[in-house]
Amino acid sequence: MPNIVNSLKAELGEGAILSRSDVAKRAVSYWDNSPMQAKVLLRPKSTQEVSKILQICHAHRQSVVTHGGNTTCVQGTHSTENDIILSLERMNGITEIDTVAGTATLQAGAVLEVVQNAVKEKGLFLPLDLGARGSCTIGGNLATNAGGVNVLRYGMARSMVLGLEAVLPDGTIISSMDKMLKNNAGYDLKQLFIGSEGTLGIITNTIVKLMPCSTTTNTAFVALPDFKSVSQLLTYLKKNIGSNLSAFEVMWGSYYAAVTKPGGHRAPLDRTYPFYALFECDGSDPARDDERFLEVVETAFSDGLILDAVIPKSENERQSLWDIRDDFEDILQPKPVYLYDVSLSISSMEDYVKKVKYQLARLLPQSKVYVLGHVGDGNLHFFVQAGTEAGNSRHLSDLAIYEPLREYKGSISAEHGIGLEKKQWLSQTRSSAEIALMRLLKNTLDPYKILNPGIVVD
Ligand code: ZN
Repeated sequence: MPNIVNSLKAELGEGAILSRSDVAKRAVSYWDNSPMQAKVLLRPKSTQEVSKILQICHAHRQSVVTHGGNTTCVQGTHSTENDIILSLERMNGITEIDTVAGTATLQAGAVLEVVQNAVKEKGLFLPLDLGARGSCTIGGNLATNAGGVNVLRYGMARSMVLGLEAVLPDGTIISSMDKMLKNNAGYDLKQLFIGSEGTLGIITNTIVKLMPCSTTTNTAFVALPDFKSVSQLLTYLKKNIGSNLSAFEVMWGSYYAAVTKPGGHRAPLDRTYPFYALFECDGSDPARDDERFLEVVETAFSDGLILDAVIPKSENERQSLWDIRDDFEDILQPKPVYLYDVSLSISSMEDYVKKVKYQLARLLPQSKVYVLGHVGDGNLHFFVQAGTEAGNSRHLSDLAIYEPLREYKGSISAEHGIGLEKKQWLSQTRSSAEIALMRLLKNTLDPYKILNPGIVVD
């Protein structure tokens, strides 16, 4: 059999291939600066080229790791010097925005923020939004079933997909590029690939559903006395604002204090409250929405649910409030810092966070922990600054986060996925029968285990 790199060069041309030394000039991910490793990195320009690459790799039993924007938080694109990386960076086009049907047809490598802006120019809105919007790609968003800040109203990435095209490990192209809202013709195959973290096929194109742009956006940043008020405020907002409530983000006091310390974000409210919430409502009734929103915030204040509030008067002010939630650079030092994305019922959150803090103080006494989350979705993020370089700090931190989660029957991953990082904890959230079915699917579609090897399940 000829050398695989020569076969790939003959198929794709030299320009599509980066050598091992060029690959090493790239960083592993947003979270890991160490040099990327691979035999070569391939940059196909079309689904047909992706198919050809996989046919060749399948024949050679060659492992392939797919890259979108490399913003994975769970080592979901882990590669070794023996792997080939397939990057979708040159398949980044917006093929069509259909303003009548309300759909966007996209290549998998399109950057989320570029798509958001293009759609907005046409008076439409893609509800998928997350902190990594400037780098992450649609293909990666779908492969990981991304969540983010608008899930409360619009659901996870999965709920926005109408059509999908993916290439199987043997090169077969599965094209289900439908625009139809309803299609019950047999298995909904696209759902196999969404959230499978690139282990069953490579997503190459998609059609996503768009919404009309809202004409009003109302935002408030508030301080709260305790967690009971946080959950009461959420219930109150759902009842009084209904489905217009698009985001309900909560920050524990220590997170807010850390990111607004001198040199960080400007603090819009005093830095000593126990909890802060950032919530937002999108609507389409300019005559009433603003007034109604103010009324609701004022009533929450007079009822004692909130202690103080800021309502932005301009888009810049709104953005600076969101930056407090989205830009947490200040707590990413000193390293190592471990990030988590667990999910559990809101009614258990306060107890759970207390138990995590207790376990961290016991297992990693020098650690610091910062908590925030999409509380409206039951999703918490923890940043654990381990406070020690000791090799087992990652495991001790994992124990402190995951062990107490058992009794609440929560999920070890709300939105980041499993990757390599959480694989050993998968059995805490999924039953042995569920994991066996995952393995059966993997072995059926990818018998030589060439796609994203070692990710999710072995
Ligand atoms: Zn998140």
